This record gives sequence, structure tokens and C-alpha cells, in this order.
Amino acid sequence: MSARTEAPALSEALPRLLHLASGPVKTHCPYCAFQCGMTVTASPVEGEALTVQADQDFPVNRGQMCIKGFTSAAIVDHPKRLRSPLLRGADGKLSAVSWDTALDFVARRIRELQKAHGPATVGTFGSGALTNEKAYLLGKFTRVVLKSPNIDYNGRYCMSSAAAGQNRAFGVDRGMPFPVSDIAETETLLLWGTNCADTMPPIMQWVYEQQRRGGNLIVVDPRFTDTARSAALHLQLTPGTDLALANGLLHLALAEKLIDRAYIAERTEGFADVERSVLTRSPAFVERLTGVSIEKQLRAVRLLAGASSSMVLSGRGAEQQSKGSETVMALINLMLALGKVGKPASGYGCLTGQGNGQGGREHGQKADQLPGYQLIENPEHREAIAKVWGIEPSELPGKGKSAYELLDSLGPQGGIRGLLVFGSNVSVASPNATNIKNKLAQLELLVVCDAFLNETAEGAHVVLPIAQWAEEEGTMTNLEGRVILRQRVRPPLPGVKNDLEILCALAGRLGATQGFSFTSSESVFDELRLATRGAKADYSGIDYAKIRAAQGVFWPCPSDDHPGTPRLFAERFLHPSGRARFHPVPYRPAAELPDDSYPLYFTTGRYKEHYNSGAQTRLVDKLLDAKPEPMLQIHPRLAARLGVKQGEQVVVDSRRGSVSFAAQLSADIRPDTLFAPFHWGGRQAANLLTIPALDPFSRMPEFKVCAVRARAQKVAAK
Ligand code: SF4
Repeated sequence: MSARTEAPALSEALPRLLHLASGPVKTHCPYCAFQCGMTVTASPVEGEALTVQADQDFPVNRGQMCIKGFTSAAIVDHPKRLRSPLLRGADGKLSAVSWDTALDFVARRIRELQKAHGPATVGTFGSGALTNEKAYLLGKFTRVVLKSPNIDYNGRYCMSSAAAGQNRAFGVDRGMPFPVSDIAETETLLLWGTNCADTMPPIMQWVYEQQRRGGNLIVVDPRFTDTARSAALHLQLTPGTDLALANGLLHLALAEKLIDRAYIAERTEGFADVERSVLTRSPAFVERLTGVSIEKQLRAVRLLAGASSSMVLSGRGAEQQSKGSETVMALINLMLALGKVGKPASGYGCLTGQGNGQGGREHGQKADQLPGYQLIENPEHREAIAKVWGIEPSELPGKGKSAYELLDSLGPQGGIRGLLVFGSNVSVASPNATNIKNKLAQLELLVVCDAFLNETAEGAHVVLPIAQWAEEEGTMTNLEGRVILRQRVRPPLPGVKNDLEILCALAGRLGATQGFSFTSSESVFDELRLATRGAKADYSGIDYAKIRAAQGVFWPCPSDDHPGTPRLFAERFLHPSGRARFHPVPYRPAAELPDDSYPLYFTTGRYKEHYNSGAQTRLVDKLLDAKPEPMLQIHPRLAARLGVKQGEQVVVDSRRGSVSFAAQLSADIRPDTLFAPFHWGGRQAANLLTIPALDPFSRMPEFKVCAVRARAQKVAAK
């Protein structure tokens, strides 16, 4: 037996929780940030599937869900679920071992690596799928136990540009600073770079209601998507020119005298610099660059300015660029100049993508952040957190590397020799995937905690099987900033553990004598509440009972008797002056533009049937039957030029790799652009092509634009 100090496993400590619920349990979908409410019933017969229904009463999805939510039970009892830790042996193969053997091995290797190379040589990589409690404890474990600065998460690839833009403009980042129900009430809605009809279908009920009430819908997207089909006005811009278009709309608003000077004077600062900056580019220049006519630009800006309420919601199309955060700032500049932000059913918001992308970045998984949106480089914030964690502020490490930079530093050259991955399939999700696969292979310790043997886990030294969404409880924070409760439906499968148990068990083995003896997710949340007291994302007045009673509580919620804050900015912004800040954000091109060698744009996105790297949804028969493979959306004229017919294989090359896709001919895409989804790994991975150019503020990679060439794949003669 190993000598260690180990907290009791949560499943051992809480046997009372490990029983089948007697009736339907209210919980939430395990996938996207809409976090649809659902009711789930466990069969009393072991091995029989769970029954999932949409929750008619939850005020966000109001009884609707998409196919991913309806089929989410399939991943809980899936035959491919891991039921035992796996350890790579001398034969190079992964074999089942006991939990003690696996955890002892991981702890020993961490100690050896850190002794030889220092604390920062071991890092962690988290996920926007983790509950707030897991995100919090992973951040604490990395900084207090590993004493390493190197923690980041896959949310960096999701909405970090919107977060950076909102922080700079408003002094805080909450995906939407208003509830989704405000969408139905706004007079003009502009959806920028989001195909939410596919990615988040139940949100469309609010958009359709807005239209039924006579509202205007504008969509900005290089593709004519299902969302764009619903719009009165579609601006089909050239990929990567969103920033130019946003600045161009503000130029036209100035020229047309549509801006609200009184609001600007009363509630903002820094407008003069922005005004000078946007006027340097003529509308004709913007028209040429973006491909959107001045007439359409004028219609859009008049609809936004002339409405009594108007709203811009952005998605990954605008944000996943090497200037994504500047594009978000340009959208905010526009809405501030029109005097809309903080007014009823108006302003700017981001449609966060991952299930807990919002909470994940609020509670310490980001390299530069501590719980409650506190900053790791702010002495007061360090002191506050160190006090809660029972350490000296000087013991807290500094800022670590952002997601791509962290992964790019794996191996002896970059200095990170050990990595613990929680709930993220980084080898599929990262840009320039070949490089990341090579870097992962150089690790001396790769530990993956996941329910399935995904593409990243396949290369690990240790794989730790974790509980699934229906087998655990914990809080998530949805795209509106509403803190909700994932409730346990049934006990975990024998042989698996919760991530919290794993972190506590490792902390004990690594010598932590205090701070990791939690007996439930709720007890972790109680500490999280304390750690966020007085911070921007203040959760101190939220508890599980309050969430159950109120169908979620919006942060900030600073005291037990506080009802939460559904709407921000009505009176003040969160900069010390109380004012919003304009930022000049001049246009610059994408990192890689089409040229003679690579003459086409390539852009990536989602199918409604799959989620992120597809590690779970590719295992669900109904989803795979509906979308069995990634297809290349290609304009018929381009296809004819290449000599490609529907369904035939097309090889797409970028400077980083090649992928062969089956062609899907469609006039919905521009003839100069190719689109493919990123839900597949291996040789079908769209990210073999993408470029890791990073946004200077958010460190978001440029998933949405790179240069490629395409050719018909020759079929070998029989
Ligand atoms: S994937 Fe998103 S939209 Fe679909 S059911 Fe789940 S939470 Fe709802």
C-alpha cells in the first residue's frame, strides 16, 4: 500500500447520494451553453437506458431541445465507456489497472518530473464542459498542489475573444448581459457570425417570437445558413473582414448622424479616438473589402439605429479570428455609439458555445484568472484568494500560457513535460492539429480524464475514467450568466470516479494535508462562494437550494437575500469610472490570405448533430446516421472548375496539412470559400488545415480563416 494522505472518495463519503432517484429528475443537457432544462428518468432495471425529456418549465428552452439533447442518454450507458483506469505498460499498450495503481503512478511521475525540472514542468488543461466546482478545484489544484502557472482550457478556443472585448469595453464579461427572453423583445436583432439555427436550435423560438412581434432580423455570415434564411437582411461578407464591416457600419452611422451624442457624453469615454479611426476608411473601401454593398450596410445601420431597442449577438464566426477581440470591440463601439447598451432589450451579447464556457473562465481555469473573475496578476486579488486557500500570496504562481501556447510548449524544448487533461480532446480541437499531436507525443506524462478513449486519450500514459453528466451533481453557468444545477439521476458506473474525487485523491498523494478533503460537490461550491465574495463574478449569495427554487440565479449575487442580477449596465459599467470604454480598432487582414498558391478561403463550423470534437456525439447512432462524415461545402461553380460532382472526394491542402472530404455542392457558400465542420479527428480533421495565428488580446486561434487550394481526388483505375 502506498503511504499517502488521501481525502475520502466522494462516492465513499456520500453513499446516501448513490441511489436511484425515485422519479424524473430536473437537470440540464450535457452539451452547449444554452443548457436546456430537461427531465430525466432512470429505469429501476440496471443497464436500461435513461429517459430524457425537455423540461417544459425551464424558462430558457421552454420545452424545446435539439437532437443532441434528446439523444444524450446514449452516451451514459454506451458500451465504449471506460470502466477502469488504463496504464500504458512496457509493451506500449494501455491495460486496465486499479485506481490505486493508476493514481500512485501519476503522483510518482509528477513528483519525479517536478523534482528534475521544477513545478512549471507539469500543467493542466481543462474544459468548458466541467462544472463550476471542477473548474474551481482544477485551478486550485494546479496552483496550490502542483504550484504550476500552466493551466488553461479549451474555452480559450471558444469565446475568449468575446470575453476580452467585453472586459475592455465594459469592465466585465458575462456572455449575455441580459436574459435570452430579451431577444423576443428587441426591435432589431443582428446575429453576427452565428448559425444558431443549427448550433443552438431552441434559441430560435425567441428569434421567431421577435419576428412575430414585427421585429427585424439581420444576419452577418459568409454562408447563407439556416439562420440567414430567416433574416430580412443577410450580409454575406468575405471571410475575415468582420472588423472592417463593423467599423464601416459605425462610419455610416456617423455620416448619417445616427449616433447618440448625449449617451456617449453621459455613459462612455474615449469616443473621439474611435471616431477619428473609423473615418479613415471610406464606405467604398469597406464595400470592396467585405463584398457587402454600401446600400446593404446602410439598411443595416438604419435598422439598428432607428429602432427603439436593438441588439447585436455575436458567435464564433466573428470571434475565432486573429483579431476576434477587436471585432467584438468594434461591435460594442457601434452599439455604444448608437446609445443602446444598458437600455431595455438592447446592447451587445455573445452566444457562448460550450456548456460551461462561462463558468469555466470565471473560476480559475484560464491562465490569467482566479475564481470570481479575479486576476492572477492583481496583488489584492491574489491576497484574497490566498487567504481562502490558506497559503501566502507569494506562494501563488503567476500567469501561465494560453491554450495553444501551452500545448505548443509540450516536450523537452517547450519545458512542459507532464500534462493532465480534463474533459478536452485537444488533439482534434486545436488548430494545426499535426503540430499538437507531435507535441503531445513528446510528453513524459500524459494523463487524460475522460469517459471515452478519444483521440487524445489514445496517446496517453494513463487514462482515468470519469462519471457522466447524469451520474453527478454540480453547477453550470449558462450563456446568460444564470447559475444552474446539474442534478444526479443515478449512481456512477462501478469503476469510474468524478473529477473532483480524482483531484482530491491526487492532492492527497502529492502531500496536500488541507484544502482537498471535500465530501461533495456542494461543499466545493461553498468554498467557491467564499472565494468569489466581493469579486466581479460574485457567487457568494448563491446556493444549491436557491438555484433549485429559482430555476437558476444570475450572478452577481452578493448576499443570501439578493435575488441575482439578470440585467447588467442599466445604471453603470464595471470600470471604476462607471463608464464604458471605446477602443479604436483599425482593420487589419487575416493572418493568411488567399494567394496564387493557395487561392481559396477555408472556414470551419458545426453541424447540428455534433458537438465540438465529436468525442461523444460521434458515438451516438442517431447522430452518426444523420451526419456520418464531414463534407466539404463547395459552390457549384467552383466544383465545376475543379471537375467535382456531388459526393466526390476533394483534397484540400493548406500550408499545414491536407484533408480529403466528400463534396457537398451548395450555392449557399461563396465561390471563393470552402467550409467543413471540425467534429472529426484523424485524417478527417478540419484542424489539420487551420492556422494557429493568435489574437493578441484573447490568444484565440484563427479557426475561421486560412488559405487553401483544392483539387479533385483521383480515383485509382481498377
Ligand atoms: S445541445 Fe444545446 S441546444 Fe441542444 S439540447 Fe443541448 S443545450 Fe439544448
